[in-house]
Amino acid sequence: MRNVNYKLSFLIVLIVSLVSSGLLFAGQSPKQDSATKQPAAATSDNAKTEAATAAVNQMIDKIIAKENALGQAMRNMHPLVETYVQSLDKDDELAFHPTGDRYFLGKLDFNPEAITQRSLLNGQSLPMSFLSRLKQVYSVKYLPEGFEQMLVVGGGFERNNYAFEYVRREFLGTVRTLVFDVQPKKDDSGTFKGRIWVEDQDYNIVRFNGTYGPSSWTKMYFHFDSWREFVGMGQWLPAYVYTEESDMKYLVGRRHLRFKGQTRLWGYNVGKSTAQDELTALIVESDQVKDNVDESQGMSPVHALRAWERQAEDNVIQRLEKAAVLAPDGEVNKVLETVINNLEVTNNLDITPEVRARVLLTSPLESFTIGHTIVLSKGLIDVLPDEASLAMVLAHELAHISLGHRLDTKYAFNDRMLFEDPEAFQRVYLKRDSKEEADADTKAAEFLKNSPYKDKLANAGLFLKAVDQRAQVLNHLLLPHIGNAMVKGNQMQRMADLKQGAPELEMKKVDQISALPLGGRVRVDPWSAKAEMLKAKPVALLSAREKMPFEVTPVYLYLTRQTNNAPQTASTEQQQQQQPAAAAPQAAGVKQ
Ligand SMILES: [Zn+2]
Repeated sequence: MRNVNYKLSFLIVLIVSLVSSGLLFAGQSPKQDSATKQPAAATSDNAKTEAATAAVNQMIDKIIAKENALGQAMRNMHPLVETYVQSLDKDDELAFHPTGDRYFLGKLDFNPEAITQRSLLNGQSLPMSFLSRLKQVYSVKYLPEGFEQMLVVGGGFERNNYAFEYVRREFLGTVRTLVFDVQPKKDDSGTFKGRIWVEDQDYNIVRFNGTYGPSSWTKMYFHFDSWREFVGMGQWLPAYVYTEESDMKYLVGRRHLRFKGQTRLWGYNVGKSTAQDELTALIVESDQVKDNVDESQGMSPVHALRAWERQAEDNVIQRLEKAAVLAPDGEVNKVLETVINNLEVTNNLDITPEVRARVLLTSPLESFTIGHTIVLSKGLIDVLPDEASLAMVLAHELAHISLGHRLDTKYAFNDRMLFEDPEAFQRVYLKRDSKEEADADTKAAEFLKNSPYKDKLANAGLFLKAVDQRAQVLNHLLLPHIGNAMVKGNQMQRMADLKQGAPELEMKKVDQISALPLGGRVRVDPWSAKAEMLKAKPVALLSAREKMPFEVTPVYLYLTRQTNNAPQTASTEQQQQQQPAAAAPQAAGVKQ
């Protein structure tokens, strides 16, 4: 280990000295340049320079080889990929505010020559025809494949095609990286121009930032910041891409495109082998395993009914988990279950089987129940401003459960769970009718009145007003995959009575936080799809511009070589038990 470090720092010294002498690390060694200088005095210098150049070229070859290997490996990986884009308009005080949005969700089928994606959404057939591609130039329609180009450095990424210039060393999280500026030697269409961050152990690119180009009137390339995360076994995989254009001209400069977008990938290792591992473990153990069914106890009809319903519930949860749309049981569920428990205790609810919570890993705001399991989307948990608003959402779902609104027990039949992952949202139908919705709202209002949150509901009402305010422009963020739409027309329907007790919504008031940005609370592990609470420290806001309610934000991933992919240890369980009863999710970056 020491050896490696020593060699590396030696190499870095070489690089630094080369940079200070103003050399650019192009594909060819700078022999011709040095040859024109005074030959006699420079002989030993030349030798040093050549050795250094050779070392740097070797390093660059490794970087390129790693990147191309990743491109190959990605062809066999099929994580979920979600792209969410908000178009923007200029505004004097808020700088930019959203004017519309677009949404894509699919299973990645990575092939740089013909990138396709199997959509999980209805009515999206890909790949697109030539004609529809042409139309998009005029209407600027975003293509999911376009965002996938930003996962791996493309555009003929070879040493002969690009010039590399060493910039500096930099830490991204706990990972030391070498930073290079990269430029194509020829301005061919689709070549990458920008900066790469390379971790200093195996020379994997962990971040790259820039654009492909040059754009033409038929093709527009966006600027992006592409991040990878360590998933163990020396592997760094694409996890997050932030895209932004603040003033991109098109249609011969007559129109301006302004947008920001995020592409998230998760579940690289979901739905694989774990069951088989368990099976082999069972086979090994089978001699000692005893069947611990107590034969004296039969099941009463009520028990049998409950067991049958729980089976339908478990079937749906397991299937959605296998499709990586639902996070496995974990830390975030415990936070939600704490709040649910607060509501149950103060309302004397004794529900069997016990109420559980899960996280849907997608961004659109939604909540629903699967039997006795309450599910909230990642996007919804992100934007809820405080614990009282979270309690409001959970109270509505708890009301469905306490009122006996059932999950269709047809899901207890296992054949109904045998479908392809991309069909998940079409095969599982969990919508409620309007009477059940209204009844749940009434019941939930009762629960909240008895709860520890009764004096803090003004803020929950304020959140509902904030949704109203953005409902017209953020259609896709408010379009649920599985649950009921919370918005009808441009009005928040869910728990709408709470709006009456809320103060007036003032989007430009710095200290009125009605809703948070996307991505601030829940982190999703790209490998295992586990969800965990982000622990960012609260920050006092400088201006209303920084409130960014419901908005996509730039991201700085905290990179580390540690993974949480090992099975849960006792210490993490202890941490969960130590959480206070009123465990509020930490507001990321926002002072409450
Ligand atoms: Zn409902």
